[in-house]
Amino acid sequence: MAKKKDTCSFCGASRDEVGLLLSGPDGNICNVCVERANQIVKEEFGSRRKVKQTAKIVPKVLKPIEIKNFLDQYVIGQDIAKRILAVAVYNHYKRIDHAQTAREDVEIEKSNIILVGETGTGKTLLARTIARMLNVPFAIADATVLTEAGYVGEDVESILTRLLQASDYDVEAAERGIVFIDEIDKIARKSDNPSITRDVSGEGVQQALLKLLEGTIVNVPPQGGRKHPEQKMIQVNTKNVLFIAGGAFDGIERIIAARHHTNVVGYGTDKKEQIDKENLLQYIAPADLKKYGLIPEIVGRLPILTHLEPLSAETMKRIITEPKNALVKQFTRLFELDGIKLEFEADVFDFVVEKSIEYKLGARGLRAIFEAILADDMFELPSRKDVKHLLITRDYAEKKIKKSSLSKFKVA
Ligand code: ADP
Repeated sequence: MAKKKDTCSFCGASRDEVGLLLSGPDGNICNVCVERANQIVKEEFGSRRKVKQTAKIVPKVLKPIEIKNFLDQYVIGQDIAKRILAVAVYNHYKRIDHAQTAREDVEIEKSNIILVGETGTGKTLLARTIARMLNVPFAIADATVLTEAGYVGEDVESILTRLLQASDYDVEAAERGIVFIDEIDKIARKSDNPSITRDVSGEGVQQALLKLLEGTIVNVPPQGGRKHPEQKMIQVNTKNVLFIAGGAFDGIERIIAARHHTNVVGYGTDKKEQIDKENLLQYIAPADLKKYGLIPEIVGRLPILTHLEPLSAETMKRIITEPKNALVKQFTRLFELDGIKLEFEADVFDFVVEKSIEYKLGARGLRAIFEAILADDMFELPSRKDVKHLLITRDYAEKKIKKSSLSKFKVA
């Protein structure tokens, strides 16, 4: 191309019209075109460049027992869920590996997972820990904000936008990532009767999710939403994305109990089935999810079903001290960074657990309670050169909680 002096060879703008004009041997380029070109390069090739850097696309997968051991370092209890998850994750990535070394006689289908358990029992933590172990992109989506396309809210594609963001727009990495869909129970339709025409709000979202779960190529707006109509869509194939759904399914125990009752009667056995009425979730079956209001297709696409146990006071106490990044270790480190040795008397932990249960905050409340106990010290001590040691006793903790705003949360 003949170089025209003082005009951009790409857009034709003259030097006066642009801020900066860079000259090469055969042409010029203005700052606007440099930026545009940069954007295009990022969108088009960003992923390919990354792939070269991340030589291994399929993460190195540990054996199920090793996966469980890894989970044990971060998540307390929940052994049944951990074992089932470990196998599911192991099989998932083995399946991807198998597909790559294509033997076409057997195609292994993907198995997404659904975790049922009260809020704050570790569902998200389990999913997050697995993603951390595998070093794959991880995104959390809240099912309650999802809507059918065209309605106010987020389209289901926004889930993949998050996954792309988590992978820094490395499409191939995102395609092997993990998505945690929280509160899946909240998009249950309100009746088990599919012919009902009212109150099917959740059903449209379930239908939209279905495609994603089974594996499809989705055009994903890289920045999400419809606010950027000019953005170029990125194609993401969800075939190898592992979806883990979680939900509390409040009241599902009634459905489980009813099913057990009918079974016993239905088969006409006189041998009453021994069931533990205190923890009915352990008997959960796909039929219960359907009855609760998940459409059968969704239930079918989440074939691995497991439950999480409610947290006992004893488990909550272990959560405070045992995990690799346990709360106590975190706070101790925070103070240590200011040269202060933080210690707790053992009964402080009982108190924290009691409060968390009293305020109905579950394990999620433990941090808030520690924050409230230590708030004044975290404010004052960094400026006090004379304090090198802080011992928290139960009395001290009680006093701090009483004066904190947390006590206002007290649930009657
Ligand atoms: P869920 O997704 O079931 O509502 P989360 O996984 O978000 O609950 O748990 C909330 C917080 O409570 C976590 O960040 C973690 O600190 C703590 N927690 C809950 N359950 C456990 C557990 N079993 N082991 C360790 N920490 C837990």
